[in-house]
This record gives sequence, structure tokens and C-alpha cells, in this order.
Amino acid sequence: MITLDLCLPDTRYPIHIGRGLLDDAQLILPHLPQRKVAIVTNATVAPLYLERLQRGLEEAGVSVLPIVLPDGEVYKTWDTLNLIFDALLSSRAERKTTLIALGGGVIGDMTGFAAACYQRGAPFIQVPTTLLAQVDSSVGGKTAINHPKGKNMIGAFYQPRAVIADMTLLDTLPQRELSAGLAEVIKYGLLGDVDFLTWLEDNMAALRARDYDALAYAVRRSCEMKAEIVVQDEKETGVRALLNLGHTFGHAIEAGLGFGTWLHGEAVGAGMVLAAALSHELGWIDEAALQRAVRLIGAAGLPTQAPDLGLEAWLEHMSHDKKVESGKLRFVLLKRLGEAAIVEGVDAAALERVLTGPYI
Ligand code: NAD
Ligand code: MG
Repeated sequence: MITLDLCLPDTRYPIHIGRGLLDDAQLILPHLPQRKVAIVTNATVAPLYLERLQRGLEEAGVSVLPIVLPDGEVYKTWDTLNLIFDALLSSRAERKTTLIALGGGVIGDMTGFAAACYQRGAPFIQVPTTLLAQVDSSVGGKTAINHPKGKNMIGAFYQPRAVIADMTLLDTLPQRELSAGLAEVIKYGLLGDVDFLTWLEDNMAALRARDYDALAYAVRRSCEMKAEIVVQDEKETGVRALLNLGHTFGHAIEAGLGFGTWLHGEAVGAGMVLAAALSHELGWIDEAALQRAVRLIGAAGLPTQAPDLGLEAWLEHMSHDKKVESGKLRFVLLKRLGEAAIVEGVDAAALERVLTGPYI
């Protein structure tokens, strides 16, 4: 096991990465102000992993309230959030009761937001069970639910007390979900670390075969890079926007096809191809670098070609992206492989060439 320390102005917390961590109650105990927890999970993850986590804690003298929610992004809503509050209040949970999120990003985001609200703030711990949650959503303190008018529109910045990422939980993850998580991993390489990008090229097969050591290294490097950026900009007023590489295009794909048609990571994969293609159009990266990015994204089992939404729809959906500021489109583009920049006022002709070009 390795442990990263995320130090923010108001808090610090460990990110434990390794195998077999789910059974190790000792990783959780030091963070509990009271020997009482609620484990929030869903109907898919509960039969796989709830009993192990629960048993370990109970053997250590912790009382456990399991809360099993329906599975799916469509349940990331106010109504489902209320199920968490109902269960906590019915069992007379106090403000010192710790909420443990056992699941992917949907469970992590909802549990974090529930913890931020319950009695004005209860402690919470993340046990991410998808690759995407391990490398992205469990770290950094963004929590939210969806509103019918927009994704993640109701939420809070609220940091966990600890993150526990167990590689062995990824064994049961569907292949498509694994690839979706790899999109965010590749993102870190493209935006900030060309050596990591090279490592990913060499180890993509091992990652897709769920080699625990390869996964642990990818999770570690991703969390390190996310932590580095979050430390500089916890509330996303500046550099944290770099983490949106591929996301402006990706958001348009998700919205254009209807949310849920493509997984978020798949849309980000094709979105990063378009971001690289636009960087090439602007003369920042050469054809060889563009091809390297495209090859790696394809090797992760992700689409390298975006759906043809039509130019007008592309521009319309991109203008609704929440990264838009005062009506101006902002892109995260590649100055070179391993270095991204936030760019406003991109040349319209170059953008149009990309949106009608070979990657659509
Ligand atoms: P998810 O939580 O929906 O999980 C994907 C699917 O895998 C679900 O069906 C889930 O039940 C299942 N699953 C989870 N773990 C499993 C396991 N070990 N074995 C088998 N099946 C398993 O999706 P996700 O990709 O993890 O997260 C997406 C969510 O994360 C979105 O709601 C997004 O908004 C959010 N997100 C948040 C942040 C943040 O910073 N807070 C960042 C990125 C994404
Ligand atoms: Mg993302």
C-alpha cells in the first residue's frame, strides 16, 4: 500500500492505494469521531462488497448502518438524497456518525453532498469502486446531485477524511467502465506529464488486463496530479480548469447524443482527440504528437471518432458547458504533449475545420 497526503488550506487527508484494503478496518478507525458509520452504496455494489466492509468494521466494534440506493446516474437526485437522510434520521444518526461512500462516482458525489448537509456537516470517507472514482471523483472534494435542468448543479465543496482505493475491487468492473476510467488517466498524462504518457503507452495492455501493480501506479500518478492541481485551486477559479481537457467537446457529445448514450469517459476520450486535433490546427502540436494521442486513446478501448452532431449543434452544446465564462468558449488545449493551457477566443475557422474533419 502507498499513501498520498492531500494537504489543503483547511484540511489534509490520506489517499491509500493498494490491494485488499477493503478488509482493513484500521484504515478507517482513526478517522471516526464515534464508533458509528453509515455505509452508502448501491444495489450493484452491495452484493459484491458491502458485507466485507461491514464485517471488518463490526469486528472492530463499529456499529454499521447500511444504506443501499438504486444504481444509476438517473438516481443522482434530490429524492435519492432524501433516502439517505431518512435512513440517518430513522436510526438517530448524530453529527459524529461517519458516512462511508462505497461505490463509483455517483455514490461518492451523493454521499459527499449528504455528508456536507447532514446536521450541517458529518464526516465522510470515500471507498471508490470504479477506476473513474479512484482517479478522479473521490479526490478533490466536489460533491453534487443532478437537477432536471443540469448535471451536478446542486452541490458543495466538501472534503473527505480519507480515500481508500482498493485495486482488487476493479476485478468486477465491466470492461467499458474500465476504459471510461482510463480516459481520465490518459487526461492527466496529456495535460501534465509526458513521462506518464509514455508509461501509459507501455502499460496499456497490463492496465486493461487489470494488473494490480499497473493499476496502482496509474491511480497513484493520477491522484498525485489531481492533488497538485486541487491544492493550487480548490474552488476552481483558475488552474483546476485544466482538468477539463477534452471535456468541452465531451460534454457536447454527451448532451448531443442524450446523456447516458456514451459513458462520460468515452465522450472525454473522443473529446481529447478533438482537443488534440484543434491544438494541431493551431500549430501547437505536430501530426506525430496528434497521432500519438489518438493511438493511446484507441488503445484504451475508447472511441477516437466523435459522432457527427452537425456544426450548429456542436457549437450550441459547447456553449452550454458550465466551463463557459461570460459567454466565451474556453478550451483546454495542448501546447505540447504533457502541457495544457486554457484558451479563450479560439480561431473560429480552425474550430470549424476540426468539427467537420476526420475525427468526426
Ligand atoms: P457510476 O458510479 O455510475 O459507476 C458505474 C457503474 O459501475 C455503475 O453501474 C456501478 O454500480 C457499477 N460499479 C461500481 N463499482 C463496481 C465494481 N467494483 N464492480 C462492478 N460494478 C461496479 O459511474 P462512475 O463513472 O464511477 O462515476 C460517474 C459519476 O461521477 C458522474 O455522476 C459524475 O458526475 C461524477 N464525477 C464526479 C467528479 C468529482 O470531482 N466529484 C469527477 C468526475 C465524475
Ligand atoms: Mg471527467
